[in-house]
Amino acid sequence: MTRKAFVTGGNRGIGAAIAITLKQAGFATAVNYGGNDAAAQRFSEETGIATIKFDVGNAEASAAGMQRAAEVLDGPIEVLVNNAGIARDSFLHKMSAEQWHDVMNVDLSGLFHVTRPVIEAMRANGFGRIVNIASVNGRAGQMGQTNYAAAKAGVHGFTKALALESAFKGITVNTIAPGYISTEMLQDVPEKTLQKIIAGIPVGRLGDVKDIARAVLFLVADEAGFITGSELSVNGGQHMY
Ligand code: NDP
Repeated sequence: MTRKAFVTGGNRGIGAAIAITLKQAGFATAVNYGGNDAAAQRFSEETGIATIKFDVGNAEASAAGMQRAAEVLDGPIEVLVNNAGIARDSFLHKMSAEQWHDVMNVDLSGLFHVTRPVIEAMRANGFGRIVNIASVNGRAGQMGQTNYAAAKAGVHGFTKALALESAFKGITVNTIAPGYISTEMLQDVPEKTLQKIIAGIPVGRLGDVKDIARAVLFLVADEAGFITGSELSVNGGQHMY
């Protein structure tokens, strides 16, 4: 049976690797993106994967976007990867309300906006796989990231509560908490800071987008039905708990 999979923030970075991996594994796959049309066009041409533009931070746009996703995939979404995310770093004493709310809207409320339109069909069909992408910094904190760390900690709270609500309906809900992964999200981190970060990663390197994609593939398998409400760290051994 061909499962239908949807990845938010899937035109580049970690989300693109997840979408490509799912497609290669036989899932009918489509992705969302926020605004980078050039990256979306390039991704779609290279992979043949459909891209749907909407802001996951906006409830109405997400509801319409998820309806479009079901049309593109020709049926209800069975596998959802909530990956879209942004960072707007600043120490709290300098943080603007806009920086706070932007991160909350996209990284946390986005989960509600995108999952709400698909959860009823998953419940009715007795099957679903939801993977939410959080961050090592949701547990460990990070200077300049009160907004991001709070949102990402919230992601796992969402996972645990929805996992309980959905367990009896054949739906699993899990979190993946990546460590530092080499994507455009890290491009604003100064080289000196990056070297310090790498020095603190026991395996001695940044993660690759495929490291996350492989973990997603594991969690969304039909056979992974006994894994729910968990948080899987994929971080090269950083901050072992
Ligand atoms: P990138 O910055 O490389 O890509 C972000 C993706 O999210 C893009 O596809 C972007 O679309 C999309 N996006 C951003 N805002 C919105 C929005 N409002 N609506 C819809 N889509 C949006 O990020 P990464 O690939 O590095 O990160 C992916 C996820 O992994 C994020 O949730 C991030 O927090 C998390 N993560 C990343 C880590 C890292 O080291 N890179 C570490 C830990 C967690 P567009 O191209 O259109 O802007």
